[in-house]
Amino acid sequence: MDGTHRTFVIIGGGLAGAKAAETLRAEGFTGRVILIGDEHEQPYERPPLSKGYLAGRAVRESVFVHPAGWYAQNRVELHLGQPAVAIDRERREVRLGDGTRLPYDALLLTTGAEPRRLGVPGTELAGVHHLRRLSHADHLRGVLTGGGRDDDPLVIAGAGWIGLEVAAAARELGVPVTVVEPAPGPLHRVLGPEVGAVLTELHVAHGVRFLFGDRLAAVEGRNGIVSGVRTEAGERLPARAVLAAIGAGPRTALAASAGLELAAEGVGGIAVDASLRTSDPSIFAAGDVAAQELGAGRDLRRVEHWANALHAGSAAARAMLGREVVFDRVPYFFSDQYDMGLEYSGWAPAGDYDRVVWRGDVEQRAFVAFWLRENRVLAGLNMNVWEVTDAIQRLVRSDRQVDPVALADPGVPLTSLLDDLPAEEARSARGS
Ligand SMILES: Cc1cc2nc3c(=O)[nH]c(=O)nc-3n(C[C@H](O)[C@H](O)[C@H](O)COP(=O)(O)OP(=O)(O)OC[C@H]3O[C@@H](n4cnc5c(N)ncnc54)[C@H](O)[C@@H]3O)c2cc1C
Repeated sequence: MDGTHRTFVIIGGGLAGAKAAETLRAEGFTGRVILIGDEHEQPYERPPLSKGYLAGRAVRESVFVHPAGWYAQNRVELHLGQPAVAIDRERREVRLGDGTRLPYDALLLTTGAEPRRLGVPGTELAGVHHLRRLSHADHLRGVLTGGGRDDDPLVIAGAGWIGLEVAAAARELGVPVTVVEPAPGPLHRVLGPEVGAVLTELHVAHGVRFLFGDRLAAVEGRNGIVSGVRTEAGERLPARAVLAAIGAGPRTALAASAGLELAAEGVGGIAVDASLRTSDPSIFAAGDVAAQELGAGRDLRRVEHWANALHAGSAAARAMLGREVVFDRVPYFFSDQYDMGLEYSGWAPAGDYDRVVWRGDVEQRAFVAFWLRENRVLAGLNMNVWEVTDAIQRLVRSDRQVDPVALADPGVPLTSLLDDLPAEEARSARGS
C-alpha cells in the first residue's frame, strides 16, 4: 500500500515514542502518525528530573524532546492526557480512555516503566515521593527548596542511579540526606564493590549518610504526613520526606491484555526480536518496556537507559517502514553527580567479571574502570574522562582478549588495542 494511506500509531509519549515519530517523518513517511500519551505534557527527557531540573539549574522548557510547534509542523497527531486502554488486534484498532477508536496499520508500544512502590506500612503518607514524571520532580523540588524541618533529612530508599542523583541535588541545595540501601554499596549489582566504593566516597565527602545492608521497615507519620522512618535494623530517623528510588517495572498491562508475548518473570517487558517486533508482526515495542535480544541468541534483557530509548525508538520506526533493522547496541548509561560525570558501557553484573582494571587517577576521580572476564572487556566506566566511549564500546563488542597491562596504561591509546580488529568487526562496533 502507498505510504500516504497508512496509519502508524505510537502508544507512549516519552523519548522512545517521540524519536519514533521524528524518524518516521525523517525517513519520508507521508501517512498518518498518531502519538498517544497519558501524561498531559508533550514528550520530555527524564534525566534532568533527577539532576539540573531538580536542582533548579535547568528550566522547564529545556526538557522537552521537541519544540512545542514541532508536532503540528510535522503532522504528528498528539493525543495527550489520554491513556490507550485496549488494542484490538483483529480489527487493528486502539481504544483510548475516552472511547476514541484509532485504526492502525503498524503499532509501536513505548509505554516505558513506572516506579516500584515501597510496600511497607506508611507508604500512603503525604511526603512519600517517587520520581518518574515532571510533576514528581516539581513536588520533590518543593521539598528540597521549600522547607521541612531544617535538620531532618530527606530519606532516600535505594542507592541506585536515581537515588544517588537526587542525593547529589539535595546536597547541592543544602538538604541533609540519608540513603538506606539493602546491598553492601551503591549500585552494587551493576558496579560491584570496587567502583561502588568510589561513589560512596564521593557522596560521603558531600555529607550524605548511608545505611547499607538495611532497608525501610516502615514510614512513620503525624496527621497523615511523613515524620520519620524505621529500618529493619531498628534505626529510627526523623524525615522531612521519603523518596522511594527502588527501581522501575515495565508498563506491560496493555500489551498483556492484548495477548502479546512477554519476557519471563525477572526480566519482564514485552518480548521483541532483533528488529523490535513483538509476537504480533504488525506491533513493535521499544525503550524501557521492551525486552530485547542485544545480540543474536542472547537472553532477553530490558535496558532502562536514555540512549536505548533514543536509538531503539528510531530503529523501531525504521522497522515499521519495512527497513532491515538489527538492533544490538552496547547498553550505555550516563550520570552526573556534583562535579562528577560518568558514562558506563556494557554489562558486567557482580559474579560475571573476574577482575577490575583501572586506568587513570582514582583518587582524583578521573579514570576509566574496566570489568574483565578472562581478559575480555565486559563493561567500562569513564569518570571525568571523555571521548573514550566509542573505544570502550568497541572493546566490549569485540569480545576478544586484551592485555590488562596495556589497558591500565594511560600512555597506550585505547584505540591502539583495537587496531587489529578486522574491518567488519570494527564497523559493527559503532552500532546500528
Ligand atoms: C528521574 C530519571 C532520571 C534518569 N536519568 C537517566 C540518566 O541520567 N541516564 C540515562 O541513561 N537514563 C536515565 N533515565 C532513564 C531514561 O529516562 C529512560 O530510559 C527513558 O525515559 C525511557 O524512555 P521510554 O520512552 O522508553 O519510556 P518513558 O520515558 O517512561 O515514556 C513512556 C510514556 O508512555 C506513557 N504511557 C504508558 N502507558 C501508556 C498508555 N497505556 N497510554 C498512553 N501513554 C502511556 C507514560 O506515561 C510515559 O509518558 C532516567 C529516568 C528517570 C525517571
